[in-house]
Amino acid sequence: MAEGKKKSHSLAQKLNLRLTLRQLRLFALVDLAVFLFARFALHISLTMRELAHVLLLTLGAELLLLLFGVAQNAGLIKKTLQPLTDLTAATQVAAARTAAPRLDPEQLSDLADRLERIDAAGLDTRLPVAENAELKELTEAINAMLARLDAAYAAQIKFVDHASHELRTPIAVIQGYANLLNRWGKDDPAARQEAIDAIIAEGEAMKNLVEQLLFLARGDNHTMKVKPERLDATEVAAQVLKETAMVDQTHPLSADWDGAVMLTADPDLLKECLRILVDNAVKYTPEGGRITLKIRQDESAARLEVLDEGVGVAGEDLPHVFDRFYRADASRARQTGGSGLGLSIAERIARCHNGHLEVTSAPGIGSKFTLVLPLAA
Ligand code: ADP
Repeated sequence: MAEGKKKSHSLAQKLNLRLTLRQLRLFALVDLAVFLFARFALHISLTMRELAHVLLLTLGAELLLLLFGVAQNAGLIKKTLQPLTDLTAATQVAAARTAAPRLDPEQLSDLADRLERIDAAGLDTRLPVAENAELKELTEAINAMLARLDAAYAAQIKFVDHASHELRTPIAVIQGYANLLNRWGKDDPAARQEAIDAIIAEGEAMKNLVEQLLFLARGDNHTMKVKPERLDATEVAAQVLKETAMVDQTHPLSADWDGAVMLTADPDLLKECLRILVDNAVKYTPEGGRITLKIRQDESAARLEVLDEGVGVAGEDLPHVFDRFYRADASRARQTGGSGLGLSIAERIARCHNGHLEVTSAPGIGSKFTLVLPLAA
Protein backbone atom coordinates (compact mmCIF):
# COMPACT_ATOMS: atom_id res chain seq x y z
CA MET A 1 0.00 0.00 0.00
CA ALA A 2 2.71 2.47 1.07
CA GLU A 3 4.75 1.43 -1.93
CA GLY A 4 1.77 2.06 -4.24
CA LYS A 5 1.31 5.58 -2.80
CA LYS A 6 5.01 6.35 -3.19
CA LYS A 7 4.98 5.32 -6.84
CA SER A 8 1.91 7.36 -7.74
CA HIS A 9 3.28 10.38 -5.86
CA SER A 10 6.43 10.34 -7.92
CA LEU A 11 4.27 10.10 -11.02
CA ALA A 12 2.37 13.19 -9.86
CA GLN A 13 5.65 15.02 -9.27
CA LYS A 14 6.90 14.15 -12.73
CA LEU A 15 3.70 15.31 -14.35
CA ASN A 16 3.81 18.52 -12.34
CA LEU A 17 7.40 19.26 -13.35
CA ARG A 18 6.71 18.55 -17.00
CA LEU A 19 3.73 20.92 -16.92
CA THR A 20 5.79 23.63 -15.27
CA LEU A 21 8.63 23.34 -17.82
CA ARG A 22 6.18 23.39 -20.71
CA GLN A 23 4.53 26.55 -19.33
CA LEU A 24 7.94 28.19 -18.82
CA ARG A 25 8.97 27.42 -22.42
CA LEU A 26 5.70 28.84 -23.67
CA PHE A 27 6.10 32.02 -21.59
CA ALA A 28 9.67 32.49 -22.92
CA LEU A 29 8.51 32.16 -26.54
CA VAL A 30 5.60 34.58 -25.99
CA ASP A 31 7.85 37.09 -24.18
CA LEU A 32 10.44 36.95 -26.95
CA ALA A 33 7.76 37.45 -29.60
CA VAL A 34 6.27 40.43 -27.68
CA PHE A 35 9.62 42.15 -27.27
CA LEU A 36 10.67 41.58 -30.89
CA PHE A 37 7.28 42.91 -31.98
CA ALA A 38 7.73 45.98 -29.67
CA ARG A 39 11.20 46.70 -31.04
CA PHE A 40 10.64 46.16 -34.73
CA ALA A 41 6.94 46.70 -35.32
CA LEU A 42 6.32 49.48 -32.77
CA HIS A 43 9.89 50.90 -33.15
CA ILE A 44 10.53 51.10 -29.37
CA SER A 45 14.26 51.90 -29.19
CA LEU A 46 15.94 49.22 -27.10
CA THR A 47 19.31 47.63 -27.73
CA MET A 48 19.42 43.90 -28.02
CA ARG A 49 21.30 43.78 -24.71
CA GLU A 50 18.61 45.86 -22.93
CA LEU A 51 16.02 43.64 -24.56
CA ALA A 52 17.76 40.52 -23.22
CA HIS A 53 17.83 42.01 -19.68
CA VAL A 54 14.12 42.86 -19.72
CA LEU A 55 13.38 39.46 -21.15
CA LEU A 56 15.35 37.74 -18.34
CA LEU A 57 13.67 39.87 -15.63
CA THR A 58 10.23 39.11 -17.05
CA LEU A 59 11.02 35.41 -17.27
CA GLY A 60 12.30 35.44 -13.67
CA ALA A 61 9.04 36.99 -12.44
CA GLU A 62 7.05 34.46 -14.46
CA LEU A 63 9.14 31.63 -13.02
CA LEU A 64 8.30 32.81 -9.49
CA LEU A 65 4.62 32.87 -10.38
CA LEU A 66 4.93 29.40 -11.84
CA LEU A 67 6.58 28.09 -8.69
CA PHE A 68 3.60 29.32 -6.66
CA GLY A 69 1.38 27.54 -9.14
CA VAL A 70 3.39 24.35 -8.75
CA ALA A 71 2.11 23.79 -5.23
CA GLN A 72 -1.48 24.20 -6.39
CA ASN A 73 -0.89 22.01 -9.41
CA ALA A 74 0.55 19.34 -7.17
CA GLY A 75 -2.69 19.15 -5.10
CA LEU A 76 -4.85 19.14 -8.19
CA ILE A 77 -2.79 16.49 -9.92
CA LYS A 78 -2.71 14.36 -6.80
CA LYS A 79 -6.50 14.53 -6.53
CA THR A 80 -6.94 13.70 -10.21
CA LEU A 81 -4.61 10.74 -9.83
CA GLN A 82 -6.31 9.40 -6.66
CA PRO A 83 -8.30 6.65 -8.43
CA LEU A 84 -5.06 5.60 -10.12
CA THR A 85 -3.35 5.56 -6.72
CA ASP A 86 -6.09 3.35 -5.30
CA LEU A 87 -6.03 1.04 -8.30
CA THR A 88 -2.26 0.67 -8.02
CA ALA A 89 -2.50 -0.13 -4.32
CA ALA A 90 -5.26 -2.70 -4.93
CA THR A 91 -3.26 -4.29 -7.74
CA GLN A 92 -0.24 -4.54 -5.50
CA VAL A 93 -2.26 -6.20 -2.72
CA ALA A 94 -3.71 -8.69 -5.23
CA ALA A 95 -0.24 -9.31 -6.65
CA ALA A 96 1.10 -9.93 -3.15
CA ARG A 97 -1.67 -12.48 -2.58
CA THR A 98 -1.14 -14.37 -5.78
CA ALA A 99 2.56 -14.35 -5.06
CA ALA A 100 1.85 -16.52 -1.95
CA PRO A 101 3.47 -19.96 -2.10
CA ARG A 102 1.52 -22.10 -4.56
CA LEU A 103 0.45 -25.70 -4.05
CA ASP A 104 2.94 -28.07 -5.57
CA PRO A 105 1.13 -30.10 -8.30
CA GLU A 106 3.27 -33.13 -7.49
CA GLN A 107 2.32 -33.04 -3.79
CA LEU A 108 -1.32 -32.56 -4.74
CA SER A 109 -1.32 -35.56 -7.04
CA ASP A 110 0.39 -37.64 -4.32
CA LEU A 111 -2.37 -36.56 -1.91
CA ALA A 112 -5.06 -37.51 -4.46
CA ASP A 113 -3.43 -40.96 -4.90
CA ARG A 114 -3.41 -41.59 -1.17
CA LEU A 115 -7.05 -40.50 -0.83
CA GLU A 116 -8.09 -42.73 -3.70
CA ARG A 117 -6.64 -45.75 -1.88
CA ILE A 118 -8.73 -45.13 1.28
CA ASP A 119 -11.91 -47.20 1.43
CA ALA A 120 -14.29 -48.25 4.24
CA ALA A 121 -11.74 -50.76 5.55
CA GLY A 122 -8.99 -48.15 5.69
CA LEU A 123 -10.74 -45.32 7.49
CA ASP A 124 -8.09 -45.48 10.23
CA THR A 125 -5.49 -44.29 7.68
CA ARG A 126 -4.13 -40.78 8.30
CA LEU A 127 -2.25 -38.67 5.75
CA PRO A 128 1.28 -37.51 6.58
CA VAL A 129 1.03 -33.79 7.46
CA ALA A 130 2.82 -31.71 4.77
CA GLU A 131 5.40 -28.98 5.48
CA ASN A 132 3.87 -26.50 3.05
CA ALA A 133 1.46 -24.23 4.98
CA GLU A 134 -1.50 -24.60 2.58
CA LEU A 135 -1.08 -28.32 2.14
CA LYS A 136 -0.62 -28.74 5.91
CA GLU A 137 -4.01 -27.13 6.54
CA LEU A 138 -5.61 -29.33 3.89
CA THR A 139 -4.08 -32.60 5.14
CA GLU A 140 -5.03 -31.75 8.73
CA ALA A 141 -8.63 -31.06 7.68
CA ILE A 142 -8.77 -34.34 5.74
CA ASN A 143 -7.33 -36.24 8.73
CA ALA A 144 -9.94 -34.71 11.05
CA MET A 145 -12.67 -35.71 8.59
CA LEU A 146 -11.27 -39.25 8.36
CA ALA A 147 -11.29 -39.49 12.18
CA ARG A 148 -14.97 -38.45 12.26
CA LEU A 149 -15.91 -40.91 9.50
CA ASP A 150 -13.92 -43.65 11.25
CA ALA A 151 -15.77 -43.08 14.56
CA ALA A 152 -19.20 -42.94 12.86
CA TYR A 153 -18.47 -46.09 10.83
CA ALA A 154 -17.22 -47.98 13.92
CA ALA A 155 -20.38 -46.97 15.84
CA GLN A 156 -22.51 -48.16 12.92
CA ILE A 157 -20.73 -51.54 12.81
CA LYS A 158 -21.15 -51.92 16.58
CA PHE A 159 -24.84 -51.06 16.29
CA VAL A 160 -25.47 -53.64 13.54
CA ASP A 161 -23.41 -56.18 15.49
CA HIS A 162 -25.45 -55.66 18.67
CA ALA A 163 -28.73 -55.64 16.74
CA SER A 164 -27.94 -58.96 15.03
CA HIS A 165 -26.92 -60.43 18.37
CA GLU A 166 -30.16 -59.27 19.99
CA LEU A 167 -32.24 -60.73 17.17
CA ARG A 168 -30.36 -64.03 17.18
CA THR A 169 -31.75 -65.07 20.59
CA PRO A 170 -35.49 -64.77 19.83
CA ILE A 171 -34.95 -66.35 16.42
CA ALA A 172 -33.18 -69.30 18.07
CA VAL A 173 -36.02 -69.64 20.61
CA ILE A 174 -38.66 -69.60 17.86
CA GLN A 175 -36.68 -72.19 15.86
CA GLY A 176 -36.39 -74.42 18.95
CA TYR A 177 -40.11 -74.35 19.63
CA ALA A 178 -40.96 -74.88 15.97
CA ASN A 179 -38.78 -78.03 16.02
CA LEU A 180 -40.45 -79.14 19.24
CA LEU A 181 -43.88 -78.67 17.61
CA ASN A 182 -42.70 -80.60 14.60
CA ARG A 183 -41.51 -83.57 16.63
CA TRP A 184 -43.94 -83.92 19.53
CA GLY A 185 -46.25 -80.96 19.60
CA LYS A 186 -48.71 -82.32 17.08
CA ASP A 187 -49.85 -85.06 19.52
CA ASP A 188 -49.11 -83.36 22.88
CA PRO A 189 -51.57 -80.51 23.60
CA ALA A 190 -49.48 -79.14 26.53
CA ALA A 191 -46.25 -79.00 24.49
CA ARG A 192 -48.18 -77.48 21.60
CA GLN A 193 -49.59 -74.70 23.79
CA GLU A 194 -46.19 -74.00 25.36
CA ALA A 195 -44.58 -73.70 21.92
CA ILE A 196 -47.35 -71.42 20.64
CA ASP A 197 -47.10 -69.13 23.71
CA ALA A 198 -43.32 -68.92 23.43
CA ILE A 199 -43.42 -68.19 19.72
CA ILE A 200 -46.00 -65.41 20.28
CA ALA A 201 -43.92 -63.87 23.13
CA GLU A 202 -40.65 -64.00 21.20
CA GLY A 203 -42.36 -62.65 18.07
CA GLU A 204 -43.65 -59.72 20.15
CA ALA A 205 -40.17 -59.08 21.62
CA MET A 206 -38.66 -59.16 18.14
CA LYS A 207 -41.25 -56.72 16.85
CA ASN A 208 -40.48 -54.30 19.73
CA LEU A 209 -36.75 -54.62 19.17
CA VAL A 210 -37.06 -53.95 15.45
CA GLU A 211 -39.24 -50.90 16.18
CA GLN A 212 -36.64 -49.58 18.64
CA LEU A 213 -33.85 -50.17 16.13
CA LEU A 214 -35.81 -48.37 13.45
CA PHE A 215 -36.46 -45.45 15.81
CA LEU A 216 -32.76 -45.06 16.55
CA ALA A 217 -31.77 -45.51 12.89
CA ARG A 218 -34.24 -42.78 11.90
CA GLY A 219 -32.69 -40.51 14.52
CA ASP A 220 -29.23 -41.25 13.14
CA ASN A 221 -30.33 -40.35 9.62
CA HIS A 222 -32.06 -37.19 10.88
CA THR A 223 -35.33 -38.47 9.43
CA MET A 224 -37.17 -38.67 12.74
CA LYS A 225 -40.40 -36.70 12.48
CA VAL A 226 -40.87 -34.28 15.38
CA LYS A 227 -44.16 -32.36 15.44
CA PRO A 228 -43.85 -29.90 18.31
CA GLU A 229 -46.92 -28.22 19.76
CA ARG A 230 -47.76 -26.23 22.86
CA LEU A 231 -48.85 -28.67 25.55
CA ASP A 232 -49.19 -29.17 29.28
CA ALA A 233 -46.57 -31.69 30.46
CA THR A 234 -48.70 -32.71 33.45
CA GLU A 235 -51.52 -33.89 31.12
CA VAL A 236 -49.11 -36.15 29.23
CA ALA A 237 -47.68 -37.45 32.52
CA ALA A 238 -51.20 -38.19 33.84
CA GLN A 239 -51.95 -40.27 30.71
CA VAL A 240 -48.73 -42.29 31.17
CA LEU A 241 -49.58 -42.99 34.83
CA LYS A 242 -53.15 -44.01 33.89
CA GLU A 243 -51.93 -46.42 31.21
CA THR A 244 -49.29 -47.87 33.58
CA ALA A 245 -51.93 -48.48 36.25
CA MET A 246 -53.90 -50.54 33.72
CA VAL A 247 -51.06 -52.99 33.09
CA ASP A 248 -49.29 -52.99 36.48
CA GLN A 249 -51.10 -53.42 39.74
CA THR A 250 -48.05 -54.40 41.78
CA HIS A 251 -46.64 -50.89 42.43
CA PRO A 252 -48.35 -47.89 44.03
CA LEU A 253 -48.15 -44.94 41.60
CA SER A 254 -48.09 -41.26 42.63
CA ALA A 255 -48.47 -38.01 40.70
CA ASP A 256 -46.76 -34.93 42.13
CA TRP A 257 -47.23 -31.52 40.46
CA ASP A 258 -48.83 -28.18 41.37
CA GLY A 259 -50.27 -26.89 38.14
CA ALA A 260 -49.82 -26.79 34.37
CA VAL A 261 -46.24 -26.82 33.05
CA MET A 262 -46.25 -25.62 29.45
CA LEU A 263 -43.78 -27.02 26.91
CA THR A 264 -43.34 -26.98 23.15
CA ALA A 265 -42.96 -30.68 22.40
CA ASP A 266 -44.16 -33.54 20.24
CA PRO A 267 -46.89 -35.14 22.44
CA ASP A 268 -46.28 -38.69 21.15
CA LEU A 269 -42.51 -38.50 21.62
CA LEU A 270 -42.84 -36.93 25.07
CA LYS A 271 -45.25 -39.69 26.07
CA GLU A 272 -42.88 -42.33 24.69
CA CYS A 273 -39.98 -40.89 26.70
CA LEU A 274 -41.95 -40.83 29.97
CA ARG A 275 -43.30 -44.31 29.27
CA ILE A 276 -39.73 -45.67 28.91
CA LEU A 277 -38.73 -44.13 32.26
CA VAL A 278 -41.86 -45.35 34.05
CA ASP A 279 -41.60 -48.85 32.47
CA ASN A 280 -38.02 -49.09 33.71
CA ALA A 281 -39.11 -48.01 37.17
CA VAL A 282 -41.71 -50.81 37.11
CA LYS A 283 -39.18 -53.37 35.75
CA TYR A 284 -36.45 -52.58 38.27
CA THR A 285 -38.58 -52.03 41.39
CA PRO A 286 -39.70 -54.98 43.50
CA GLU A 287 -43.40 -55.38 44.07
CA GLY A 288 -44.84 -52.83 46.49
CA GLY A 289 -42.14 -50.24 45.79
CA ARG A 290 -43.57 -46.79 45.08
CA ILE A 291 -43.16 -45.08 41.70
CA THR A 292 -43.66 -41.31 41.56
CA LEU A 293 -43.93 -38.97 38.60
CA LYS A 294 -43.04 -35.46 39.76
CA ILE A 295 -43.03 -32.29 37.64
CA ARG A 296 -41.49 -28.96 38.59
CA GLN A 297 -40.38 -25.87 36.70
CA ASP A 298 -37.81 -23.13 37.27
CA GLU A 299 -37.19 -19.90 35.27
CA SER A 300 -36.28 -21.61 32.03
CA ALA A 301 -36.76 -25.37 32.27
CA ALA A 302 -39.27 -28.03 33.20
CA ARG A 303 -38.02 -31.00 35.25
CA LEU A 304 -39.98 -34.22 34.80
CA GLU A 305 -38.77 -36.74 37.39
CA VAL A 306 -39.49 -40.46 37.59
CA LEU A 307 -38.59 -41.74 41.07
CA ASP A 308 -38.61 -45.34 42.18
CA GLU A 309 -37.71 -47.45 45.22
CA GLY A 310 -36.07 -50.16 43.15
CA VAL A 311 -32.76 -51.95 42.86
CA GLY A 312 -30.88 -48.81 41.78
CA VAL A 313 -27.83 -48.60 39.49
CA ALA A 314 -24.25 -49.09 40.72
CA GLY A 315 -21.90 -46.10 40.43
CA GLU A 316 -19.71 -47.72 37.77
CA ASP A 317 -22.77 -48.43 35.58
CA LEU A 318 -24.35 -45.00 35.88
CA PRO A 319 -22.29 -43.24 33.13
CA HIS A 320 -23.22 -46.02 30.66
CA VAL A 321 -26.96 -46.47 31.17
CA PHE A 322 -27.75 -44.19 28.20
CA ASP A 323 -25.45 -46.17 25.88
CA ARG A 324 -27.12 -48.36 23.29
CA PHE A 325 -27.54 -52.01 24.33
CA TYR A 326 -26.06 -51.33 27.77
CA ARG A 327 -27.58 -53.35 30.58
CA ALA A 328 -26.29 -52.82 34.08
CA ASP A 329 -27.26 -56.34 35.01
CA ALA A 330 -27.57 -58.35 31.81
CA SER A 331 -29.20 -61.45 33.35
CA ARG A 332 -31.86 -59.46 35.22
CA ALA A 333 -32.49 -57.23 32.21
CA ARG A 334 -32.99 -60.28 30.02
CA GLN A 335 -35.54 -61.65 32.50
CA THR A 336 -37.39 -58.33 32.45
CA GLY A 337 -37.32 -58.28 28.64
CA GLY A 338 -34.89 -55.37 28.43
CA SER A 339 -32.98 -54.77 25.21
CA GLY A 340 -30.72 -52.03 26.55
CA LEU A 341 -32.18 -49.56 24.04
CA GLY A 342 -34.92 -47.87 26.12
CA LEU A 343 -32.78 -45.18 27.73
CA SER A 344 -30.89 -44.36 24.52
CA ILE A 345 -34.25 -43.78 22.84
CA ALA A 346 -35.41 -41.61 25.77
CA GLU A 347 -32.17 -39.64 25.57
CA ARG A 348 -32.57 -39.19 21.81
CA ILE A 349 -36.11 -37.82 22.36
CA ALA A 350 -34.80 -35.41 25.02
CA ARG A 351 -32.07 -34.16 22.69
CA CYS A 352 -34.39 -33.60 19.74
CA HIS A 353 -36.39 -31.31 22.07
CA ASN A 354 -33.24 -29.38 23.09
CA GLY A 355 -33.31 -31.09 26.48
CA HIS A 356 -31.39 -33.83 28.26
CA LEU A 357 -31.73 -36.66 30.77
CA GLU A 358 -30.15 -36.81 34.22
CA VAL A 359 -29.87 -39.76 36.58
CA THR A 360 -29.09 -40.23 40.25
CA SER A 361 -29.29 -43.62 41.87
CA ALA A 362 -28.39 -45.54 44.99
CA PRO A 363 -28.20 -49.35 44.80
CA GLY A 364 -30.85 -50.96 46.98
CA ILE A 365 -32.60 -47.63 47.62
CA GLY A 366 -33.86 -46.42 44.28
CA SER A 367 -33.31 -44.20 41.24
CA LYS A 368 -34.36 -40.81 39.92
CA PHE A 369 -34.41 -40.22 36.15
CA THR A 370 -35.06 -36.57 35.22
CA LEU A 371 -36.09 -35.31 31.81
CA VAL A 372 -35.09 -31.62 31.57
CA LEU A 373 -36.86 -29.68 28.80
CA PRO A 374 -37.03 -25.98 27.93
CA LEU A 375 -40.32 -24.28 28.84
CA ALA A 376 -42.63 -23.04 26.10
CA ALA A 377 -41.79 -19.46 25.02
P1 ADP B 1 -33.49 -52.03 29.20
O1 ADP B 1 -34.38 -52.29 28.07
O2 ADP B 1 -32.47 -53.09 29.43
O3 ADP B 1 -34.21 -51.64 30.44
P2 ADP B 1 -32.60 -49.33 29.14
O4 ADP B 1 -31.78 -48.64 28.13
O5 ADP B 1 -33.95 -48.81 29.38
O6 ADP B 1 -32.61 -50.82 28.69
O7 ADP B 1 -31.80 -49.35 30.50
C1 ADP B 1 -30.43 -49.67 30.50
C2 ADP B 1 -30.04 -50.28 31.83
O8 ADP B 1 -30.12 -49.30 32.85
C3 ADP B 1 -30.96 -51.40 32.28
O9 ADP B 1 -30.57 -52.64 31.74
C4 ADP B 1 -30.83 -51.34 33.78
O10 ADP B 1 -29.68 -52.07 34.18
C5 ADP B 1 -30.57 -49.88 34.07
N1 ADP B 1 -31.80 -49.17 34.52
C6 ADP B 1 -32.59 -48.37 33.77
N2 ADP B 1 -33.59 -47.87 34.52
C7 ADP B 1 -33.41 -48.33 35.76
C8 ADP B 1 -34.11 -48.16 37.00
N3 ADP B 1 -35.19 -47.39 37.10
N4 ADP B 1 -33.62 -48.79 38.10
C9 ADP B 1 -32.53 -49.56 38.03
N5 ADP B 1 -31.82 -49.76 36.88
C10 ADP B 1 -32.26 -49.16 35.77
